[in-house]
Amino acid sequence: MENPATTPLEEVRSNIARACKPARRDPGEITLIAVSKTHPATRIIPLIEQGQRVFGENRVQEAQAKWPELLERYPDIELHGIGQLQSNKAEEAVALFNYIHGLDRPSLLKALARAVDKSGKRVPCFIQVNIGEEPQKGGCAVADLPDFLAKVRETAIPIAGLMCIPPFDIEPAPFFALLAKLAADNGLTGLSMGMSGDYETAVMLGATHVRVGSALFGERA
Ligand SMILES: *Cc1c(COP(=O)(O)O)cnc(C)c1O
Repeated sequence: MENPATTPLEEVRSNIARACKPARRDPGEITLIAVSKTHPATRIIPLIEQGQRVFGENRVQEAQAKWPELLERYPDIELHGIGQLQSNKAEEAVALFNYIHGLDRPSLLKALARAVDKSGKRVPCFIQVNIGEEPQKGGCAVADLPDFLAKVRETAIPIAGLMCIPPFDIEPAPFFALLAKLAADNGLTGLSMGMSGDYETAVMLGATHVRVGSALFGERA
């Protein structure tokens, strides 16, 4: 290789660039969200120092404990809330995050719309789709998506696109392709899909945002 990867961040970036080639995509279209959940600031700072500016957290409380200090030091960071969100945390999530992935139900929509109106901070949200129709998983049912999108469009919340977490341990490509089709059918361009095990596949199938944790930080405790 002419450009040997030396850090996990460089390796992930070069894997994304490689996955772009057969799909004829520009790596600049893809946002790498470094998922720093469970990792302390001391693990996050080296990535920031290497130039990473987009991070994801799945718990509001953990993010509140960790990020305000880091954001003061590195004000150009973009923070994404990626996990299941409880309605009673909507106000705090809107205050802290630049994007929210996981808007998936009317009760949460109501809480987020109220928080956005109250704060005036119009945080773009990805609509989570339960792409594998798994009863235990969050996400809007595929069949309910058009109605739910219409409800979101009645609020001040900008729709960033669609998000999914495919079923565990099955080839994810068909689920990514389905999410891409649902987005296209509904006039949406953002696609938050792909994690450490499958982000290259997701990029080939149109992901605009990949959420990568363990490939950057190592396994979580
Ligand atoms: C933890 C998490 C990720 C990252 O998972 P890895 O497999 O560590 O890359 C991505 N998306 C969501 C919603 C997560 O909760």
